[in-house]
Amino acid sequence: AGEPGGPYRVVLLGAAGVGKTAFASIFAGAEDSMDSEDCDLSTDDVCEKEIEVDGECATVTLLDMWDSETDDEWVQERCMQTGDAYLLLYSITDRASFLRASELRIILRQFCPAQHTPIILVGNKCDLVRRREVSMNEGRACAAVFDCKFIETSAAMQHNVWEAFHGIVRQLRLRRDSK
Ligand code: GDP
Repeated sequence: AGEPGGPYRVVLLGAAGVGKTAFASIFAGAEDSMDSEDCDLSTDDVCEKEIEVDGECATVTLLDMWDSETDDEWVQERCMQTGDAYLLLYSITDRASFLRASELRIILRQFCPAQHTPIILVGNKCDLVRRREVSMNEGRACAAVFDCKFIETSAAMQHNVWEAFHGIVRQLRLRRDSK
């Protein structure tokens, strides 16, 4: 189906412990050691892959570069300017991480004022139903306010994680096609 789109740089953002590393491992295909093209996440936090979405190939570079501990603005700024698109993660079991996601959304808007930068708000750990602190409606409402898409995922159960990656590619294509 012609040339693959991209490479699209997709950056993982979110508080510590929300599941960014788990997302990166699923993307890198850590489970599938047969694939010699697997990225080595132990040496860097960047992984480039060609994935098929809706019958069309796309090259996606996933960056797990966000250091949630740093308050070095230069480092944050660089990260906020690196992505073509962002997966903004929080954990549904951790309200503080949900509030942090809102803050990051605001910082993102300051650093990357480009219109229509694709962002998906991702409520991870939805397998931990008994520890839920953030309802699905709250997540959805927050995404509506912030003008981005919303999905709940479980990296532990590998539930909806690829849907999130595919969703971001679809948004990147929509933006490309509208240019
Ligand atoms: P990071 O700091 O954002 O990179 O978070 P990690 O990917 O290191 O995840 C932090 C912890 O949460 C680890 O112990 C993961 O195994 C766990 N974790 C990540 N995603 C999920 C999930 O969807 N469900 C559950 N139950 N645990 C998860």
